[in-house]
Amino acid sequence: MTAEYDEELMQFHGENCCWFEKEDKYLIRFSLDIVKQYGEKDASYGDHVHYMLRKCPDCGAYFLVEDVEQISWSDGNDRMTYNYYQVDSPEHADKLVEIGDPFFLYKGPKILP
Ligand SMILES: [Zn+2]
Repeated sequence: MTAEYDEELMQFHGENCCWFEKEDKYLIRFSLDIVKQYGEKDASYGDHVHYMLRKCPDCGAYFLVEDVEQISWSDGNDRMTYNYYQVDSPEHADKLVEIGDPFFLYKGPKILP
C-alpha cells in the first residue's frame, strides 16, 4: 500500500542543520542520534532499503536517513549507501517513508555520499 505522491511533502520549511556549514559533512553519520527505525522497505530499483529517523544533537534538526544496500552479484559484497534528507518533523519523515522511494524528487536539504 503506497500513499499518493504529494508535492507539498517534497518541500522543506525549516532552517538548515548546522552540518550544512561544515566542510567534513560525511562525519554526520557518527554524530546524529537515532530516534526511530522504520525497518526494511522494498525499493522500486530492486535493492533493500532501510529508513531511520535521526536527530542532530546540536541544533535539533531531523533527518530521514536512507540506507541503501546495493547487492553486487559479481563479488558478493554488499555496498551500503547512506543518504541524509533533512525533514521538518518526525511526522514529515513518517509520511515520506509511507510514499516509498521518491527521494530524488525531494527538494529539502540533503547530504548524499
Ligand atoms: Zn545540526
